[in-house]
Amino acid sequence: MTKVIQNVQLLTEQGELVTTSLTIEDGKIASVGGDIPAGAEIIEGNGHFISPGFVDVHTHLREPGFEHKETIATGSASAAKGGFTTICAMPNTKPVPDSVENMQLINGLIKESAVIRVLPYGSLTKDISGEVRTNIEELKANGAVAFSDDGVGIQLSSTMYEQMKEAAQHNMVVVAHCEDNSLIYDGVMHEGKRNLELGLPGIPSICESVQIARDVLLAEAAGARYHVCHVSSKESVRAVRDAKAAGIRVTAEVCPHHLLLEEMDIPSDDANWKMNPPLRAADDKDSLHAALLDGTIDCIATDHAPHTTEEKCCGMVGAPFGIVGFETAFPLLYTKFVETGKWTLKQLVDWMSVKAAEIFELPYGKIEVGCSADLVLIDLNKEQAIDAEGFVSKGRNTPFNGWVAKGWPVMTIFEGNIVYQEAE
Ligand SMILES: [Zn+2]
Repeated sequence: MTKVIQNVQLLTEQGELVTTSLTIEDGKIASVGGDIPAGAEIIEGNGHFISPGFVDVHTHLREPGFEHKETIATGSASAAKGGFTTICAMPNTKPVPDSVENMQLINGLIKESAVIRVLPYGSLTKDISGEVRTNIEELKANGAVAFSDDGVGIQLSSTMYEQMKEAAQHNMVVVAHCEDNSLIYDGVMHEGKRNLELGLPGIPSICESVQIARDVLLAEAAGARYHVCHVSSKESVRAVRDAKAAGIRVTAEVCPHHLLLEEMDIPSDDANWKMNPPLRAADDKDSLHAALLDGTIDCIATDHAPHTTEEKCCGMVGAPFGIVGFETAFPLLYTKFVETGKWTLKQLVDWMSVKAAEIFELPYGKIEVGCSADLVLIDLNKEQAIDAEGFVSKGRNTPFNGWVAKGWPVMTIFEGNIVYQEAE
């Protein structure tokens, strides 16, 4: 079946928008521009911007085990609505993908209900407890895209080192949530100024940065490829920058909320502002922007982390960490940073697609002949307020409810098929 998406605006390598059409055959991009083949099914693009479907290397879909928060069906549909076509699912589920059996269970659930490409992580340790190491070779053979214990830091250096050596042997990336448990101090937000005003316990930045500093040295010794999750502080940025300068094979991601918000934005003891790592100080936020622009940070990842309203209702201390991210990421970043001239549209798209895909050497996130037809059409002029009640995700936990943003996905295409279309 041949399909043509006509009348769309495509970014050139130089970052200019040109009106063109795309032809899709058997789920792959067959041509860019050119004649429309006779008998092709026409998808009208209405002059909208067409981007590679976004790639998110850091997401929580909660299934199996926590289906009251999210399922693979609702999470992948939420991602599709946000323009994502490839997402990597973190392993803090129940069971954890720490064995061949559990990996196969999760593969089966994904096959059954995902509307886009969901690539599962394998865990680095059994049950993400940081103790018994998993078998990286076996989990890779059963579809693990990379390895992580995200949700918690790996406390013991030797465990991290041994798994890095193992991952290096199998050309797998070790992906780390960096957090030294001895430096959390029961904190629920950044240890800075705002936590004192609110009378809440703080998590110091060193809780993250010291573990990054340790890990890059371990990665160097192990010869491993190492990716840092959700970098949040200026000291962490420095550790990654220094490691890259030293030739260590490290990559890093930043989340939209850490680019958009800082500790002083937190209005009250409201758990919709509670995430891990926390919103840090203004100069931390500035350093994250500088790090993206100079290539120290490679890509943007949402860390989509749905929880129920009941879990998030009653202040920071009792609530779990995390906010949802799929359905607001592009419009917020586009509105705040592209519309204002801080970034180009091409930079934003690259950080959300091809740069993310490159971390795991995935052949996605680009519009090229022969690539999977994973695409998103975006109305860059459409402006509307974020309405958490309208999310496809089960999660309503966002600090951005009511924010007005431009640049909304109107159609998402995965392997040539429409998986999300804006309601008329
Ligand atoms: Zn994490």
